[in-house]
Amino acid sequence: MNDLQRTLLTALPEDAAVVDQIHAIASAIPDPIFVIDYNGRYVNLIGGRERLLYDSGETLVGRYLRDIFPPAIADRFLAAVRRAINTQVLQTLEYTLDNGQVAGSRCDGPPGPQWFEARVAPMRPHLGEIPTAVWLALNITKRKAMEEELKRLASQDPLSEVANRRYFFELGHKEFLRARRHRRPLSVLMLDIDHFKNINDCFGHAVGDQAIRALADVCRTELRLCDHIGRLGGEEFAVLLPETRLDQAALVGERLRTRIAGIRLATGDDEVRFSGSIGVAGMSEDDDNIECVLQRADQCLYEAKRSGRNRVITDLSSDP
Ligand code: GH3
Ligand code: MG
Ligand code: MG
Repeated sequence: MNDLQRTLLTALPEDAAVVDQIHAIASAIPDPIFVIDYNGRYVNLIGGRERLLYDSGETLVGRYLRDIFPPAIADRFLAAVRRAINTQVLQTLEYTLDNGQVAGSRCDGPPGPQWFEARVAPMRPHLGEIPTAVWLALNITKRKAMEEELKRLASQDPLSEVANRRYFFELGHKEFLRARRHRRPLSVLMLDIDHFKNINDCFGHAVGDQAIRALADVCRTELRLCDHIGRLGGEEFAVLLPETRLDQAALVGERLRTRIAGIRLATGDDEVRFSGSIGVAGMSEDDDNIECVLQRADQCLYEAKRSGRNRVITDLSSDP
């Protein structure tokens, strides 16, 4: 009789047939259920025969967490087992594992890193025996990938692949609060393609789209990884520059303006070029939110358009 059978018998002494049924069900489920004791030793394995989702778990039985996983993972797993036993409350955790991180694995399951959700439930303690918990591992790699994809779809503009308007403002609020809390500078740029209607009218909508993508590419290559680029609509973009003073932001704006003017779109016989106007503003003491800063940058953008386009106008009222 193995530990699980013994436990089930203790739990349900009145009906051995039910015990048999539960054991048959547990053995048939595709996901592995490990019994792990308080010392981190794998005592038993039930189920988990689905090789499309899991490596064989039998190689773990009789061994200790610390002999199987890298120390950080082993410590985290042992802490979850002990917390379940100490508190007698179900614990859940998510983790990612690669075959190479499981010593002695047969590597006969899915290739590459996999995401798991573990549900760690305490077993009823038996007098004189080391307490145990059951560890149900569920492969959630597909769900994780779908969650990531959904997040991307909800936050990214499909044409330019920069942040969409909603996500850009979400980032803007976070950056504003961070800059305020740590008393750090934060600047923004508002950017709009000049006479964009002409590009659409003369060369077609597809070339207009090409211009939008080229501008986003310029921003991506020219800016730092910590800067945030958003497409606010049409051919209008905004950029958040954390840790950047107004004078530095003005230089960034000028660099972008030059790069945009240097873009050449190949369209059959024609070579299409265009320019952009840019407004720059910095966060000041009086600003209540990121919208205030963006509004000042927008006023500068308007001024840049009004005074001839293809230029950068900086909001000198922003604090340096
Ligand atoms: P200005 O120099 O004053 O900015 O002039 P403009 O022609 O660029 O001004 P406006 O903002 O009025 O024109 C924007 C045009 O962009 C109008 C709209 O039809 C077009 N547009 C909006 N979204 C898209 C898009 O996704 N792709 C393309 N190709 N065109 C778009
Ligand atoms: Mg425009
Ligand atoms: Mg516009």
